[in-house]
Amino acid sequence: MALDNLSSSLRETFRKITGSSYIDKNVIKEMIRDIQRALLKADVNVKLTLDLSRKIEERSENEKPPAGMTPQDYILKIVYEELLAILGKSSNLKIQPQTIMLVGLYGQGKTTTAGKLARFFIKKGLSTGFVACDVHRPAAFEQLRTLSEQTGAKFFGIKGEKNPVKIFNQSIEELKDIQVKIVDTSGRDSLDSDLLDEITKLKKAVNPDEVLLVIDATVGQQAGPQAKSLMDATGLTGVIITKMDGTGKAGGALSAVAQTGVPVYMIGTGEHLEDFEIFSPKKFLGRLLGMGDPEALLDVAQEADISDEKAEETMTKIMSGKFNLMDMYDIWEKFAKPSLMKRLFDSIPVGKMPKGASNMLDLDAAQEKIGKYTVILDSMTYKELENPEIINAKVIRRVSRGSGTQEQDVRNLLKEFRAMKENAKMMKGNRALKKMMRGQM
Ligand code: GDP
Repeated sequence: MALDNLSSSLRETFRKITGSSYIDKNVIKEMIRDIQRALLKADVNVKLTLDLSRKIEERSENEKPPAGMTPQDYILKIVYEELLAILGKSSNLKIQPQTIMLVGLYGQGKTTTAGKLARFFIKKGLSTGFVACDVHRPAAFEQLRTLSEQTGAKFFGIKGEKNPVKIFNQSIEELKDIQVKIVDTSGRDSLDSDLLDEITKLKKAVNPDEVLLVIDATVGQQAGPQAKSLMDATGLTGVIITKMDGTGKAGGALSAVAQTGVPVYMIGTGEHLEDFEIFSPKKFLGRLLGMGDPEALLDVAQEADISDEKAEETMTKIMSGKFNLMDMYDIWEKFAKPSLMKRLFDSIPVGKMPKGASNMLDLDAAQEKIGKYTVILDSMTYKELENPEIINAKVIRRVSRGSGTQEQDVRNLLKEFRAMKENAKMMKGNRALKKMMRGQM
């Protein structure tokens, strides 16, 4: 997931606190130093990091845990709340007819994001159309047209036309039956007055419900000033941060934007259309800390076209630690897409993820492994799928022969199944953290 290093450092810090037999000033000081190091490495602003440390220190000294809560859990609650505060407020795109204008500099992922948004709205059942108003980059026209073919969004553009207002005005009639209109606009190398002028004029003509800045996470803390200038100049309503995969600076971009008060709506986590997530500070932090995230799990399930009921049922089973190989089979069959798999595994409680389970996060290997595992599960009887504990060496031999795989493959599958179950149990055991995640504390 995005911010892997920050994630593992914070998880380690949380583990240290949970495992310490007492909490005193020194333990807190060391914890704060660990958190500072982790945040600064993830490019979070120095002042913000220091403010956060001060708040954690003050609260840890002055507040007492409520009855029934251990000091360890209470410290974690404080850290969780303060980390949440630097991620900003939650604010989502509405799933309703609307016009969205995308703005941003060259190469930030604006056109790709237009495609991701179209896929997102079409999946939610809303007809979607593109208006190609990027008049400065000729390739953007074709790129958007290809995306319209890939997603099923309607396309409107006028090749060679240099006036974006004219293009938009002509699109009105063409797209009059379309519920969500996504207006792609021109970029520049920097936020110069020409660009702001063009955006302002176009905005007046479009009168959009949302003006969203698309910005690349690799710019780090610079994302903050960019969002601020655009908010002041054009009335930005939200930000989409792209390329959250593959940069250590994502923490800088996220926290800097959050500090400007403009909400981060969505994040891009890869080049493919499905690599796109609604940004919810709570969900994001939950996954970062490996606390699992029931809501994210539901999102992924819905994306895989599983009914709410089925998703809820699967989730409850995973969380209860009662799920069997049959459920695992179900999940793998439905989530047999690497990116969905990754999100699913990011969503379930990973705590101390055992080696076997973390291999599932290797996307390249995931698809191959899912293929192999489904064949193995296909060779098991209902009784075995429902009661994995009866699978002994003899069954393993039969299944491996029946599925044309190695006995070791069958053993690995069982190992991963047990690891998943173990993780689910850990989540179940930590009541305080679970409640915290649900905002009940
Ligand atoms: P634009 O100039 O802002 O319209 O940028 P494009 O949409 O053409 O994207 C520029 C490059 O960034 C392309 O190679 C995209 O595939 C890539 N890109 C866009 N979003 C993401 C993302 O979330 N992750 C990664 N890794 N690449 C992305």
